[in-house]
Formats: sequence, structure tokens, C-alpha cells
Amino acid sequence: MELSKVSLVKFNDERLNIRRAVEMCEGFRGLTSAKKVLLKPNLVMWDEVLPFPRFGVITTALVVEEMVRMLKEHGCSDITIAEATTEDKAINSGTLEAYRGMGYHQLEKKYGVKLLDLNRGPFEKVEFDGFSLNIAAPVLETDFLINLPVLKTHNTTKVTLGFKNLKGCLSRRSKIFCHHAELPLDRFIQRLGEKLAPALTLIDGIYALDRGPAMNGTAHRADILIASRDMFAADVAGTMILGMDPAGIGHLAEHARRHDLPLDGSNLEICGENLSSLVMPLKWDWGWLEDNSGPTAFGRMGISGIHYPKYDHTICSGCSFLNNMILILLIGAYTGEPFDNIEFLTGKVARSTGGFKKTFLFGNCIIRANRDNPAITEAVEIKGCPPRAEDIVRILNEHGIKADFNTYIQYRTSLAARYHDRPEFREDHFSVAGE
Ligand code: SF4
Repeated sequence: MELSKVSLVKFNDERLNIRRAVEMCEGFRGLTSAKKVLLKPNLVMWDEVLPFPRFGVITTALVVEEMVRMLKEHGCSDITIAEATTEDKAINSGTLEAYRGMGYHQLEKKYGVKLLDLNRGPFEKVEFDGFSLNIAAPVLETDFLINLPVLKTHNTTKVTLGFKNLKGCLSRRSKIFCHHAELPLDRFIQRLGEKLAPALTLIDGIYALDRGPAMNGTAHRADILIASRDMFAADVAGTMILGMDPAGIGHLAEHARRHDLPLDGSNLEICGENLSSLVMPLKWDWGWLEDNSGPTAFGRMGISGIHYPKYDHTICSGCSFLNNMILILLIGAYTGEPFDNIEFLTGKVARSTGGFKKTFLFGNCIIRANRDNPAITEAVEIKGCPPRAEDIVRILNEHGIKADFNTYIQYRTSLAARYHDRPEFREDHFSVAGE
């Protein structure tokens, strides 16, 4: 069996260790100075309005910067950084805002790196078996794709590592399409990864995220760098380090099946640290009450009179981020009295089975899915794709739920405060040093 080299290196605040991770897996093998190189970090979200702890959520600027330096030393002159950050004008979330906030313009100035916003396209339609996806043309056209995901868990796909990070190379329409009503999300993720097949994957595990992928998860200082020329091998190692079985990760299992690969790590040639010494089991799932009437927090707080079934794989990132906000608003609005027999539905396919005074339909998809549903007594439509935060607060209040956006601000402040006075969580890891 052919072995795939995977380097496992402790970071320990030494930039040199980022280099070691790349060198030990021969990460630049086959890279000549004439080649076009494209770096795809994970900058999935940005927020300039509310407190936004970045630890474990986005790739550190440190790893991106060091990779650029190494490429320049290698003689490469055509280097592009490309990402498609979730767009939301209300919080100044966008790719260029993220680049600016992390000081990426210094990479542009000092190293002549090009900064691309993949949200703007252009895209090329690529046919797969039974479906097509629009993929950013610069990613398809590059000679040497370097994938820079974060070591984090994901509430739907369990992990979001090399394969999942590439979903950011799709047009918005294709991203939404991947959260398909009938086909599994993991199939799209696997096919895309197989098509793009990065030349090098470096998983940034300086911070790792429990119950990711967003900032409501809990970050840990993990100090782990995982690098391989084989993205599948890097993801298998990353999954094991997160304490999960790669056979239980849909897109990895699918990839193994299609390429006749083992899922037990037996085809990995580990260089550096011993994998078992790095394992730090993290959780990916959010607990829900047994009767699926709401998150376990509702049970702990005695919240009743509300039916809030768990999100499913059809909910895409836009609605998913806001779903957390609604739950926080509802918890904040709870007065000790039961809610008035209400229901909330999210995603694209859930159908009300009736028995509630009001059914809140969150987002255009679920509104469509329940149009003319005779089981619903009164439908409350929260329109948008995704809906706007201010509309959510307004509509809840119009229907007697005293939602106060300040509750959510306090919650976000408390999330950020978890990392205050903990020197191992370093904000400067998210700023290009540029010296
Ligand atoms: S309404 Fe929500 S679930 Fe539907 S496509 Fe838009 S963001 Fe996705």
C-alpha cells in the first residue's frame, strides 16, 4: 500500500515549526517558481460590530503569512490568497473586510500577493455525477493549490478540515445547493475535494474548536500543525486528533470507498510527533431534548410552551449562524412563564405536523416548504435568505415575544470574555506582522 506522509508538529509559538511541518511532508515537492500558487485559508466569517473571538474559527494570519514567506523564498512570484467570507452588511462581514482586519494588505505590499474575493467570481460550471457546481475559476486555474483549514469540529459534518474548507470555492448558489433536501452534504464535499485535489494541505491547529464551526463553540489552544500533500491523509490525521473515527465522517468514508483507501490511518506515514500523544477529543454536536422540542438548555432552564426541533443538514451557513441568535433571544425573552404554544422551523425540508398556535418559519426555504401546509394554525414568516437580524427581533416582538437584541450582545460579549486574561489566546496570531 502506498503511504502518504503526514507531518505532525507542535507549534509552540515558533514560526520555524510551520516551516518544519511543510518541509517534513515535502510540501513543496514539484513546485517550481513559475507556477501560479493559490492559498485558500478559512475566513468563513467576519464581524466588525459585535465581539468576535476568532480562536479556532478562522485560520491564523501567522500561518498564512509564514506560508507566503516560504513561497517567496522558494522563488514563487505569482501568489494569490483567495476566500469567500460570508457576506452581511449589518456587521461588515465580507472577504475584503476580513483581509483588511487581519492586515493582509501588508502581504500585498511587501510580497506582491494578490488578494481575491471569491464571492465575486468568475465561476465555471463543473459537471459531476448527476449534478453540477459552480467553482471559482481562479481555483480551477491555479497550478498549486494550498489549503489552509482550521482544526475544528462542525455541527453537521462533524469535522471541517481540508475537504470542507474547499466549499468556500463555490458560488453562493452552489453552496446553498450542497445543503440539498435529498442528497447528502458529504457527497458534495467529497466530490469537490476530489476535483480540486490541493497540492498541499496544512491544518492550522494552533487553536482547535469544540462544537464548531462558529464562535459559539469553545476554542482550545492546541498548538498542532498537520501537513500533507495528500488532503485525505491530513484530514484522517486531523479527525483522529479530534478524537473521532474517520469512518464516521461521511465525506472521508465516501472518499475512501471511491479510492479504496483505509480509514484507520494505516496508510499514513507520520513524521514528527506521535499521533496518539496529540489526541484531544472534542465534541461536535449540540445537545437537544429527547422529544426534540429544543436545545438541552431549554430543559435546564425549565423553558416550555415552545417546540424548536433541531436543525438538519439542509440549513446553510447564513441561517445556521442566525439560528443560534434566535435561541439566545428566546432564552433572554423567557420570563419564567411557558411560551404560548409556539413552534419554530428552520432549514429547507421540515414540515409542521400541527398542534401549535403559531409556527415561526425562519428563512425563505422553510416558508416555501410549508406553504399551504394545512397543519399550521398561524404561520409567522421571517423572510430572507438568510433573514436580517433586525427583522427577526421585530417579528418576535410583534408576536408577543420580548426579544431584546441587547441579550444577544451580552451573549457575544461573554463568548469573547472567555479568552480574556488567558495569555495563551493571542490576538496577534490573527494579524499579519509584516515586519
Ligand atoms: S433561506 Fe436559509 S436555509 Fe434557505 S438558502 Fe437561504 S440561508 Fe440557506
